[in-house]
Amino acid sequence: MRVLVVEDEKKTASFVRKALQAEGFAVDVCDNGEAALAAAAGTPFDGMVLDIMLPGRDGLSVLRQLRERGNKTPVLLLSARGAVNERVEGLNAGADDYLPKPFVIAELVARVRALGRRGGEVKPTVLRLADLTLDTISHRAQRGGKTFEMTAREFRLLEFLMRSPGRICGRMSIIEKVWDYDFDPGTNLVDVYIRRLREKIDDGFEPKLLHTVRGIGYVLKETP
Ligand code: CA
Repeated sequence: MRVLVVEDEKKTASFVRKALQAEGFAVDVCDNGEAALAAAAGTPFDGMVLDIMLPGRDGLSVLRQLRERGNKTPVLLLSARGAVNERVEGLNAGADDYLPKPFVIAELVARVRALGRRGGEVKPTVLRLADLTLDTISHRAQRGGKTFEMTAREFRLLEFLMRSPGRICGRMSIIEKVWDYDFDPGTNLVDVYIRRLREKIDDGFEPKLLHTVRGIGYVLKETP
């Protein structure tokens, strides 16, 4: 697990770096926000320890800039003040966790480790395939700039297929993931929903994205 530590106070930075290295983390250190943004743009980190009080661009500004660029590295914010509003501001800016100074180093290490686990579970919120997009927050789906209405079930079906592009999804796995059934209801339920979905996402568009693999299931992909 590779971690970026952003802290201008040399003693604290060195202390944190050594503690994380002792736990087996690979650690890079930056002492200002601009350097941190440059490092994050060039290296995929599994986590970031970001102090709010930095010379020049502060930690909150670094965090906002990261998220604006679509960087989803899990971030643990450090603050000397530990004020409630700063904590809220930090979480609103896209922080994953928050630790007020002074902190116990063992707690920081534990929180960084948790950050790594969380990072592995981060799922993109906007899914794309060709010109088809699905926003999993607003539940909006669009193809070629046209928005279409979907029922909750159709949405779940499309999300499931879009999270496994190019992979054949068997009927049974669709039934389990989209309907939460652990048995085959023995009806043409899936086929009916696939047909409806196909009318929405493929009718009038090229290339066709939703393909049937006879006898096995369905796959969402650009090429037939
Ligand atoms: Ca600082």
